[in-house]
Amino acid sequence: MTTYDYDLFVIGAGSGGVRAARISSGHGARVAIAEEYRVGGTCVIRGCVPKKLLVYGSHFAEDLVDARRFGWTIGEKGFDWPTLRDNVMAEVDRINGSYTDTLTSHNVELYHDHAELLDAHTIKVGDKTVTADKILIATGARPLVPDLPGAELGITSNEIFHLDRLPKSLAIAGGGYIANEFAGVFHELGVKVTLVNRGDTILRGYDEALRDRLLQISMTKGIKFVFNCNVERFEKIEGGGVRAFVGGDDPIEAEMLLWAIGRRPNIEGLGLEAAGVRLNDKGAIAVDAASHTNVENIWAVGDVTDRIQLTPVAIREGHAFADTVFGNKPWTVDHETVPSAVFSNPPIASVGMTEAQAKTKLGTVKIFTSDFRPMRNVLAGRNERSLYKLVVDSATDVVVGAHMIGPDAPEILQALAIAVKAKLTKAQFDDTVALHPTMAEELVLMR
Ligand code: NDP
Repeated sequence: MTTYDYDLFVIGAGSGGVRAARISSGHGARVAIAEEYRVGGTCVIRGCVPKKLLVYGSHFAEDLVDARRFGWTIGEKGFDWPTLRDNVMAEVDRINGSYTDTLTSHNVELYHDHAELLDAHTIKVGDKTVTADKILIATGARPLVPDLPGAELGITSNEIFHLDRLPKSLAIAGGGYIANEFAGVFHELGVKVTLVNRGDTILRGYDEALRDRLLQISMTKGIKFVFNCNVERFEKIEGGGVRAFVGGDDPIEAEMLLWAIGRRPNIEGLGLEAAGVRLNDKGAIAVDAASHTNVENIWAVGDVTDRIQLTPVAIREGHAFADTVFGNKPWTVDHETVPSAVFSNPPIASVGMTEAQAKTKLGTVKIFTSDFRPMRNVLAGRNERSLYKLVVDSATDVVVGAHMIGPDAPEILQALAIAVKAKLTKAQFDDTVALHPTMAEELVLMR
């Protein structure tokens, strides 16, 4: 019998890879993991975690204004970007340390190096060559920068957390998660934000009513949107900034340009060809429901497989892999009814089918909405309305979709997602007594 250095070699210590390594080790496997950058991956190092902290930090701009209506005297206000940036980065360092400790305490050997497959069982990691019985690829994805003249003048979400100072103006290319989240953050921090989108809609895939509401609120706040914009090339402006040339229209100028047009799987330099691992037509590693590639001893989880690019999904995929392959407890991840949120200002949260999807799939649906001004906004004199929507299958009364925009929507939706996942009916929602006074009570009061 062939003996290998490890039972499992994981490439990539992000959310999916770390979970898979830890659980596999717990099941008794001898595990190593390679990470060429920092343990924690996109979510911890340059994604969800620092982004959410910036969202909190930026929201004080409105909170401090609203506080006056609640009787507070606010002295001279000031904002210091380096303080927020450095505190956020210190928190990232802390979590990075605890992820690393987790690996060590679970006897996972950590290589701080690039790993490349030489064949299906041999890995070159730094200047060492090791072997493993099984291999898991969890290398994530990276921001897409288009192949346009001058595109390199822009930055991506990788760099935005580290700015020396805030720009006066920021053009954001894209209309998805990252574009809307950073538009909210930087607008609140006093940056003039213009969102430049190739289509005429933001956040494709989310329920139309919520997208429209976010657009309307964002525009009212002062974020500028340019739609149907075909950017052709970029040039540096003398004295600082970037000028974007857009087909036929006046150029768009900003001190800084941020690319937020999607993320691409990290598949380069991994030796996938040498190991015989196939890609799908999206350029991601092709896997089955058990995250198994076409190669018998190789699996892949997370963004590198481009199924659903969300951390909790990658974590589950990594956990399912470990239990199935090393724990004798086979299970697969259910990629249906996955809740998601956009931490825009205000945030959006959603689970299940949108109204349009339900109409196409189910035929007749009942829609319940609550369009209201949160109590806090009323007293603050803030004319921002929340919108909650339930999509109900007319035939069964099952709530098949729930969509919310408003303060704390993601916090509320997590609990609501249990009800939708459990296929509860609208009658069961109605049977539940409201918790008053909350925003969430609207969910059981829609008639
Ligand atoms: P998204 O997929 O959310 O949005 C991409 C946007 O860029 C869309 O508006 C799209 O337009 C546009 N676009 C795509 N390709 C091009 C192109 N070649 N030129 C110009 N515009 C283009 O991508 P993000 O980068 O915002 O985020 C990547 C992923 O990361 C998300 O899909 C999400 O899975 C994850 N993420 C999740 C977060 C969360 O959970 N809160 C936060 C941040 C990221 P069109 O609609 O026309 O296709």
